[in-house]
Amino acid sequence: MTDQVKYVLDEKDIPETWYNVIADLPEPPHGVLHPATGQPITPDDLATIFPPALIEQEVSDLREIEIPGPVRELYRQWRPSPLFRARRWEKTLNTPARIYYKYEGVSPAGSHKPNTAIPQAYYNKTAGIKKLATETGAGQWGSSLAIACSAFDLECLVFMVKVSSEQKPYRKALMQSFGAEVVPSPSQRTQSGRDILAKDPDCTGSLGIAISEAVEVAAASPDTNYALGSVLNHVCLHQTVIGLECMKQFEMAGDSPDVICACTGGGSNFAGMAFPYLGQNLRGESNTRVVAVEPAACPTLTKGAFAYDYGDTAHLTPMVKMHTLGSSFIPPGFHSGGLRYHGMGPLVSQLLDLQAFEATSVHQLEIFESGVEFAKAELILPAPEANHAVAAARREAIRCREEGVGQTILFNLCGHGHFDMQAYTDYFAGKLKDYEYPAEEIAMALSGLPSVG
Ligand SMILES: *Cc1c(COP(=O)(O)O)cnc(C)c1O
Repeated sequence: MTDQVKYVLDEKDIPETWYNVIADLPEPPHGVLHPATGQPITPDDLATIFPPALIEQEVSDLREIEIPGPVRELYRQWRPSPLFRARRWEKTLNTPARIYYKYEGVSPAGSHKPNTAIPQAYYNKTAGIKKLATETGAGQWGSSLAIACSAFDLECLVFMVKVSSEQKPYRKALMQSFGAEVVPSPSQRTQSGRDILAKDPDCTGSLGIAISEAVEVAAASPDTNYALGSVLNHVCLHQTVIGLECMKQFEMAGDSPDVICACTGGGSNFAGMAFPYLGQNLRGESNTRVVAVEPAACPTLTKGAFAYDYGDTAHLTPMVKMHTLGSSFIPPGFHSGGLRYHGMGPLVSQLLDLQAFEATSVHQLEIFESGVEFAKAELILPAPEANHAVAAARREAIRCREEGVGQTILFNLCGHGHFDMQAYTDYFAGKLKDYEYPAEEIAMALSGLPSVG
């Protein structure tokens, strides 16, 4: 078929293994340090909050790691996800480029996040854990973990950034539908929450604070563990089903990407799409261009330091070497595009440091303009986060038009926007402004980075 728009694989084509990029790195990952002692962390330190299988995956250098049967069984509910050729959008853009997008919005939570929520719940269940504690910002991760916990009959406690829990009541109801308990953060439930509220009773919360609360709860109880929806190596690993499926779908299409775009918050959907391709590049088998795109209001990769930092505000998490804006970073309230985390996955950070890919930033008016244009052509309304990837793909398509080259562009449409209509409402009402995180603020936040010998 010459005008095909959708490339669909069979259930049997769901990958049997995840791809671990650590196997192809030219040098081993930087060590993870204990938050109190600054010494390298031991598996025992992590065992209070993570199950053994995930700790093993965090440090494994095996290239392929088997996806357990019960996880593949649940993946079948929505995987393999479709790869689309954006034929109608190509016409809108009047570009000679061929644009493809992998659509992760078909999952039960509407994003890529269940790809890791399901295995995380599975490994905790098999380790005898009864309950998972986590944080959520916009609610995508909380919903995904609530669904996964329900599937494996685990309890789920979600600390939801307070401003989001007020602005996004539907996400909260979705989590509750699957039996999760949702607590606005900062809360009185934890010492970390109480400390913040004592200083600032009106604090609207941040991901860094909510992580502190969830880790504190998990560390205090032997049958409760902690789950993180991005950043960590095992999360990036689980997401590689995205890129691995793309490779098979491009074989069906008889094409291959020249450039790949994905948005970055903590880096997991980017890793999921890009790591299998970056692995090919690192092994010298290909030379695919890869572009990470982030908000100008939270410019972790483009303006942050590559340094050891904490993952949370209360400094309960280990220190990892990553691109960071400092753990005290709180993004401006009027920023609507998501992707607000102060740090970045260590593997994504290390690969950027090796110049294995490019990073760029976009302003929020451009992302919503791109997203609405894309929706009118392709009939799918993207999540604001995904709009960053849409905007980057659009820039590439326009470049192809200007240069008169017919390249193949692939981007990750990591979620739909059906729970994010307030952001679109604000955009249509003209309430969104472009905002560049000021250099002085960045310098100030970075001056507080921990000093590591
Ligand atoms: C959570 C989320 C992101 C950001 O997280 P990453 O780990 O960087 O992928 C991006 N897009 C969507 C739709 C999300 O839900």
